Amino acid sequence: MARHASDQARGEEAPSMRVSHGAPLGPLTTLGIGGPAATLAELTDPADFPEFVALADGCPGDPVCLGEGSNVLVGDLGCASAVLRMNTRGIRIGSADADGRVRVTVQAGHPLTDLVATTVAEGLSGMEMLAGIPGTTGATPVQNVGAYGQEVADTMVEVTAWDWRRRRTVRLDASACGLGHRTSVFKHSRRWVLLTLVFALRRSGLSTEITYPTVARQLDIPLGGRVPQAEAAEAVLAVRRRRGMVLCGTNTESRSIGSVFLSPEVSPAEADRLRALDAPVNRFPDGSSRVSASWLIREAGFGLGHRLAPGVRISSLHYTLVADDGARAADFSAAVDLVGRRVLDRTGVRLVPEIDFIGEGRRPAVVPG
Ligand SMILES: Cc1cc2nc3c(=O)[nH]c(=O)nc-3n(C[C@H](O)[C@H](O)[C@H](O)COP(=O)(O)OP(=O)(O)OC[C@H]3O[C@@H](n4cnc5c(N)ncnc54)[C@H](O)[C@@H]3O)c2cc1C
Repeated sequence: MARHASDQARGEEAPSMRVSHGAPLGPLTTLGIGGPAATLAELTDPADFPEFVALADGCPGDPVCLGEGSNVLVGDLGCASAVLRMNTRGIRIGSADADGRVRVTVQAGHPLTDLVATTVAEGLSGMEMLAGIPGTTGATPVQNVGAYGQEVADTMVEVTAWDWRRRRTVRLDASACGLGHRTSVFKHSRRWVLLTLVFALRRSGLSTEITYPTVARQLDIPLGGRVPQAEAAEAVLAVRRRRGMVLCGTNTESRSIGSVFLSPEVSPAEADRLRALDAPVNRFPDGSSRVSASWLIREAGFGLGHRLAPGVRISSLHYTLVADDGARAADFSAAVDLVGRRVLDRTGVRLVPEIDFIGEGRRPAVVPG
């Protein structure tokens, strides 16, 4: 029988969708940058979604969905189209099938950190290495979120989504989602709003194999070893904290969107050239070889803490961009372009930003809106 770990309460007392006009979007993002939303709706009850459809129909442009805002840059001029803040909650854990696989159904607004903690506490294997990644579960297929050898494509089996083109809710198998290295059919598309997601996890006392040397070293086990899920998740969190990749309100390095740039794919010849320079070039599950974006940024001469534009600098812990007080989207975009140009000049490798841009205003040169 299905068990409800934290299902959304429904009933007379359920609040209806909250709508505001002119609210600043910056505070709804981890960078803390961006202008106002002409129309902002916060969805806490999935049953209210049709209200948003009706609201968005009366607004200009394509509606935009926002989770925890940990991978977006909002333009300084804000957003004229309707913005939906996805804040639905709930995890439902099914019973194991004959192969020991358990279906876990999650509302799109549910925080990923809580989903990972719940699956670890339940002894379910397949998400433990995603510990510490901020954001909502609904955003995870958008760029096939992944870290330390696991990615959403490994466990996600299907989603339900509102399709603006067909104007109805559709069910998509994982194979229809086009999940690749930090990409999917949802990336840079406003066609779908992801509503629920289903993962298939394995009931097991142990994590999946530890394939990342930094995590194996943290655990003091050989590569390929397995440990209880909670130990794997703790090790990942320890590694991430050292690199400033866990959000923490009081940390000056926390106004971040994580990696900013994808690790670029390189040809076999380029991989050999870069390896000769000691660059970390790794193979990824999609078969691609990719060079570390952090290494490229360092190699291009940007030091930790390097100031790039007013209010924008390289983090003091890790080779990524962070914002300080006074930063604007135009400054952040200029900083992204500066890093991209100099990396290309100095290393011959083209960086591609991982972030999504929402709204209007100056955006990084190669980021679609
Ligand atoms: C400190 C830090 C560390 C990070 N580490 C990692 C990492 O290790 N690996 C990794 O892959 N990423 C990482 N990220 C990036 C980020 O956490 C993920 O991309 C996350 O999935 C974004 O979730 P969100 O809810 O904040 O999405 P948002 O930033 O709000 O949105 C991101 C994009 O998804 C779309 N979107 C959001 N919700 C929905 C929905 N329900 N339906 C349709 N579209 C939607 C938005 O329109 C937008 O285009 C990190 C970010 C930070 C700040």
